[in-house]
Amino acid sequence: MMKKTVLTGLRPTGNLHLGHYFGAGKNYLKLQEEENPFYLEIADVQALTDHFEDPEMVRKNVLEMTKDLLAIGLDPNKVCFFIQSKIPEIAELTVFYSNLVTVSRLERNPTVKTEIAQKKELFGNQGESITYGFLGYPVSQAADITAFDGEIVPVGDDQLPLLEQCREIVRKFNSIYKETLKEPQPILTKTTRIKGLDGSDKMGKSLGNAIYLVDDASTIQKKVMGAITDPQKIKKDDPANPDICMVYYYHKLVNTEENIQKVCTECKAGTRGCVNCKKELIAAMNEFLKPIQERRKYYDEHPDIVMKILEDGSKEARKKATEQMKKVKQAMQIDYEKN
Ligand code: ATP
Ligand code: MG
Repeated sequence: MMKKTVLTGLRPTGNLHLGHYFGAGKNYLKLQEEENPFYLEIADVQALTDHFEDPEMVRKNVLEMTKDLLAIGLDPNKVCFFIQSKIPEIAELTVFYSNLVTVSRLERNPTVKTEIAQKKELFGNQGESITYGFLGYPVSQAADITAFDGEIVPVGDDQLPLLEQCREIVRKFNSIYKETLKEPQPILTKTTRIKGLDGSDKMGKSLGNAIYLVDDASTIQKKVMGAITDPQKIKKDDPANPDICMVYYYHKLVNTEENIQKVCTECKAGTRGCVNCKKELIAAMNEFLKPIQERRKYYDEHPDIVMKILEDGSKEARKKATEQMKKVKQAMQIDYEKN
């Protein structure tokens, strides 16, 4: 069977958290074995759309995030890691595609809408001043995918409206110019959206509610101890509803089937105190993170290797984007070299 081209991206705005791992990362690991080529973009330009005043943060996290991705087990021989800003064709494509999207369509994009609302909540009125760049990031994301002829895009479900926007741009491009671009398909994990420690809908780097893969034992302890449990449970032996408890929710991610069942039964029966339950979760969480943190240590000690992976990957990715750009320009009749 023909292998498919995989493309995905992450914004270098912080370390990887459990949301990334269970929402998307598990599929990266699967797809690196099954499909080829696999382009993984560190989306520094996109991170700057809403962090343009904090270039040091973005710069630092390019390396941090790449180390985390290597630490979960991605193999640089199977995955082409690249930095978005190293591929100017993406910026060029973004300009071309910007004609194919209306401003009102961008404003209606559910993910963009949610993110704007979150910004207002976090930063008050400052959230009103949404830049042209931020509103347009779904357009640049369409460029990210199509610059590499991406067919499969492993993502968390917050990305689905952005993928749909990309597919619309592709259809419009193909109908106005000529059949050139492929419509990418999203791929989700079973756990499509991981909730935050505070019980909110999405664990996010920018939301301050995440457990990071680099968190040490004492940080995990603090975070888990503060996680939201069933508010109806007052005393240790009150029965409770595990389905509204964040501690049970994370047990389901990192613990064994047998233990998960036990937590659920005992919680419902009122034979399990929350403090004890949290302690067990802390142990399971540390166990889950141990091999990831061990692998990460190697890359912490060898930042030059990480930089080389990004440099080599960016060169390889640029070759693909250059080829693709030729096809796009030909379709748009702006391939002047030919005349
Ligand atoms: P930011 O707040 O800066 O946007 P983020 O935590 O949303 O950061 P991204 O870099 O935007 O992270 O997303 C990278 C990938 O991880 C995307 O595929 C996204 O869908 C997925 N992802 C991020 N958070 C979650 C989550 N809580 N559950 C499932 N998937 C997630
Ligand atoms: Mg995001």
